Amino acid sequence: MRIRDILSADYIGKEVTLRGWVYRLRKQKGNTFVLLRDDRGSVIQCVFPSTRIDNITRESSVEISGIVKEDARAPEGGIEISGTDLKIFQVSDKDYPLGEYQSAELLLDYRHLALRTRKMIEIAKIRASIFKFLRQWFSDNEWMEVTPPLIVKGSVEGGSTLFKLNYFGDVAFLSQSAQLYLEAMIFSLGPVWSLTSSFRAERSRTIRHLAEFSHLECESPWVTLPDLLQIQENLVRYTIDKTIKERKDSLKFLEIDTNRFRGLAEPFHKITYDQAIEKLISLDFKMAEDDGKSRMIRWGDDLNIDSERELTRQMLTPLFITGYPTEVKPFYVKENPVRFGTSLTFDLLGPQGYGEVSSGGMREDHLPTLSSRIKQAGLNPVDYGWYLDLRKYGSVEHGGFGMGIERLLRWFLGIEDIKDSVLFPRTMSRSSP
Ligand code: ATP
Ligand code: MG
Repeated sequence: MRIRDILSADYIGKEVTLRGWVYRLRKQKGNTFVLLRDDRGSVIQCVFPSTRIDNITRESSVEISGIVKEDARAPEGGIEISGTDLKIFQVSDKDYPLGEYQSAELLLDYRHLALRTRKMIEIAKIRASIFKFLRQWFSDNEWMEVTPPLIVKGSVEGGSTLFKLNYFGDVAFLSQSAQLYLEAMIFSLGPVWSLTSSFRAERSRTIRHLAEFSHLECESPWVTLPDLLQIQENLVRYTIDKTIKERKDSLKFLEIDTNRFRGLAEPFHKITYDQAIEKLISLDFKMAEDDGKSRMIRWGDDLNIDSERELTRQMLTPLFITGYPTEVKPFYVKENPVRFGTSLTFDLLGPQGYGEVSSGGMREDHLPTLSSRIKQAGLNPVDYGWYLDLRKYGSVEHGGFGMGIERLLRWFLGIEDIKDSVLFPRTMSRSSP
């Protein structure tokens, strides 16, 4: 039996048996109050005569039997259990390192135990719902789920963030993106999508970058840039709407004001890169330079988090920016045939300053162009031979996008540091636990 069942139906006066862990313990002279956590993270207060449970400690694993009672003072739902029997599986060591208030660093050092805190439990449940509804959307819309390899030979997003592997004496890398493989699949499987870890050796410590993140990617033949924007928008709206409904209690526990999502019902805002730059210039936006100085932003600059924040600060609806300069995007992007120097690409920015959540666009499908781009990017064409084959044998217009799930969660839950949106964060300084 689970605590949720007891809280959601009428069990008053009935005897129940629950298994779980001692989440909190409050000993008084007469009674001891055990806040029991079950294996789905729900908690309920159980009251025992103190003489009955002398040796119990926090995080001991137990089975509790008792009578369900109404008590307005009980912390969860005004319902508690008047304990009649207690079986102990294991008395937890007294030195459990996590108390009620802990520094963020300690919680990261003990992440394997911090997963038992209410905050992490509720975030994990919301993550699970996000995955479930993303998958549901793709399935309902007849996209096929595929599993690309994660050990690869070539870079997708530039060499500086590659993790190198000793692959049986040869060099290989951990995948930065499944995109090139998804492109290979569209010729026989049609619209495809995958959800895998992507790996980036991000050397700067930021609150938006992980070394390993959950990457949702999709790719389809015969789509256009406007199609991709619509697909991206529908997917995000569906996933967030469904998650809000399924995880009302979790959102309430995390004190997330669902008014923040009002703007999602409206069509997402769309501006071009040109308009974004004009807007930033009108706001007198300065780019920080490497030497510590700053200068006015100008056409050709990539948009960084500061500029993204400036553009979306006042918004409640996500923002698409389209038509980035080809130069600031990776080698595979499709040039805009009617505006040379710009590409058929988009980024989706979370509102309220959360910044890039997804990147996508059309892919270069013309063999000589792609081939020379690979060389220009300083990549070894040999590693991309198979990728170039895709432009040799029945090339078609195609495109897709890649969305970081932790970035989506960061915006959705208003999380400051991206590390809190994943169970075991991997960063430059952390590969354990
Ligand atoms: P940014 O400019 O924000 O560093 P990017 O443009 O390098 O990101 P892409 O290559 O476009 O990232 O990857 C697609 C998506 O994957 C991004 O929009 C983002 O949501 C997510 N993503 C990329 N790098 C990371 C990372 N290091 N940690 C978490 N998510 C990431
Ligand atoms: Mg990007």
